Amino acid sequence: MRAVFSTSKLLAVSLATLTALSSLACNNDPPPPRYPPGQLPPGGYYGPAQPVPGQPPAPGQPPVPGQAPVPAPQAPPVPSIPQNLPPVANDPINLEDLNFMRQRSQAVIAELKQSLAPNYQSKVQSVPLVIEDAVGEVNAYAACTQGKALMAITDGLMQIQAQMARARATDEIFGTRKFDAYVQFVAQNQRPKQPIVRPPPGFWDGAQDVDGRKVMRQHQLFEEELAFVLGHELAHHYLDHTGCAGSQPPFITPADLGRVLSNAVPGFNQPNEIAADTNGVTNTLNAGRARNGYNWTEGGAMLTLNFFLALKTMTPAEAILFGFELSHPHPSFRIPIVRDTANRWRQSGGAAPASPFPFPIPGLTG
Ligand SMILES: [Zn+2]
Repeated sequence: MRAVFSTSKLLAVSLATLTALSSLACNNDPPPPRYPPGQLPPGGYYGPAQPVPGQPPAPGQPPVPGQAPVPAPQAPPVPSIPQNLPPVANDPINLEDLNFMRQRSQAVIAELKQSLAPNYQSKVQSVPLVIEDAVGEVNAYAACTQGKALMAITDGLMQIQAQMARARATDEIFGTRKFDAYVQFVAQNQRPKQPIVRPPPGFWDGAQDVDGRKVMRQHQLFEEELAFVLGHELAHHYLDHTGCAGSQPPFITPADLGRVLSNAVPGFNQPNEIAADTNGVTNTLNAGRARNGYNWTEGGAMLTLNFFLALKTMTPAEAILFGFELSHPHPSFRIPIVRDTANRWRQSGGAAPASPFPFPIPGLTG
């Protein structure tokens, strides 16, 4: 076990297991659509989510009888990438540099905190982000232990998000299908609690991989993937879902984390998850708007959720690979929430506050 406890330096903590958290999964997730194990559905995973029986349709999908149609989605603005960028050797995402990924997570959460409304910001300013390095764990969470608030993201989730950004950027620039191929590779080769699998040599085209436009784009996607996941966990704290926020000294010890992971975490519920998702999106967009250069969009959130949607449909129901799949609602439930929240944010010129999802959802009180 190694640990560094500081608000200014990277926090790295090794823990034996996250299974206690995983056991807090929402139990009322809709069943995943089924495809033969290891196979992609027609069209791959860039398309809109398929309607789920009993759930509102995704924006742009046919309305459920008796319900108002959902407006067609506005795609996030496509960034303009300069055309004459030189090749990039030794890019940290291409190299799968974990230290780089950890540093980006800390930088992204600092930007998210900076753009919060003052009342929320004061609640979470001192809540640390712990980098969890347990082998094969893919998750992010917010927790409270003995009055101390913390957030965590695992190395495994960052590794996978970096590779899905790399694949998607390649597809956008070169018209390939690397994202679908990457999901398929993970579904076929990953085993629970094992190191995150890496595609074999030859999976990436060498010239495409160092292309300056593609490298720029994969960093944009990676950061907005992190922003959504971390913005979601931040919201659990400032919306008071975890039972404590911000007022305690930010010194988290390994013993604290052991307590969190073994027994003392409040269970997440569906209304809280919905609120955290809408806030995660608006946090990403608000912080993105405040940036110089590229403004983060919900594209990274969609990429992340589409990855887990694909993974769920390509692996048998009993073969849950990652804690992320257990501790969050089904991606097909979350995707329309993300899309609709981002559309409303854009339609209102970025003024729409983070608010409960407008679909009628039983049990949602605000
Ligand atoms: Zn959550």
